[in-house]
Amino acid sequence: MQGSGSVLICDSIHQSGIDILKKAGMKVDYKPNILTDELISIVKDYQVILVRSRTRITREVIQVASNAKIIARAGVGLDNIEVKAAEERAIRVINAPEAAMNAVSELTIGYMICLARSIPHADREMKKGNWIKKDLMGTELSGKYLGIVGVGNIGRNVGRIAKGLRMNIIGYDPYPIDRDYIREVGLIVTDLRTLIQSADFITCHVPLLEETKHLFNAELISNMKPTAYIINASRGGVIDESALYTALCNGSIAGAALDVFETEPPLNKLLIELPNVICTPHIGAQTKEAQQLTSIVIAEKIIQITRGVI
Ligand code: NAD
Repeated sequence: MQGSGSVLICDSIHQSGIDILKKAGMKVDYKPNILTDELISIVKDYQVILVRSRTRITREVIQVASNAKIIARAGVGLDNIEVKAAEERAIRVINAPEAAMNAVSELTIGYMICLARSIPHADREMKKGNWIKKDLMGTELSGKYLGIVGVGNIGRNVGRIAKGLRMNIIGYDPYPIDRDYIREVGLIVTDLRTLIQSADFITCHVPLLEETKHLFNAELISNMKPTAYIINASRGGVIDESALYTALCNGSIAGAALDVFETEPPLNKLLIELPNVICTPHIGAQTKEAQQLTSIVIAEKIIQITRGVI
């Protein structure tokens, strides 16, 4: 067995995190292309297993990880780790959701500007040689109402940036929202229905849970203004894609921007092909800065746990 604090890194992560682990005296084996068979044969030698998105830590892997104390994901969700199997063996499962805050918030703001000014559409037409200026009457963000559903880390940060763009910020969260934050952005706290009916832009920043699955269903979407836009850079499944498709087709809402999908890559090509939809392939956390920060945050968490700090 490797010495105390042996770490197996199974996916590519930013070098900063690797350096932090080594500096703390941990024995690090970096195998970013490791395949399941090799993983199963060597995993028993490690106390920490660190992954990003590629490697799946299944029950089968966990069963043979006899010395594992921590399974760490350098990322936001825990979708590729069988958490229940790890918990049954008293293995701590950790991730680094805080590191993606700026990246996702800035993507959300980018989406709002793209929707308001039809930038992707204008670009596509220019490249085809078309000068469609007359068709591109946009709208401004200043003075509009931004409805934030899920006023957590990312939702709060989006609100701060949008306040700088002189938007009015409405927020809904089933849990209490920090009073200082409410004062800071002048947040109008309201129930979900009122938010949906009042907002010009709605952005969703909730986790995917049983109670948030299809939170945005046909009935809720039907309460949006016909001029309103919806943005989802949280998790696919929070919006019912077929209900969204219908609303976008019949003009009951103006447009949507989607970074996440019920199935990734999306099976529902009809939705992404609509002219009033902007989409990206789950790039919310895909910035150099977020990837570096993620590796640093996860390395520091591993060190703190192994030293008994947290
Ligand atoms: P967070 O836990 O800080 O905030 C989530 C908020 O949603 C919390 O305030 C919670 O109270 C609230 N919430 C829970 N249930 C709700 C409900 N039914 N209605 C309204 N609000 C509800 O999480 P975060 O770090 O801000 O992340 C938000 C989302 O963004 C998560 O789904 C996360 O997976 C996703 N995310 C996506 C990307 C990407 O690449 N697109 C990257 C990072 C995070």
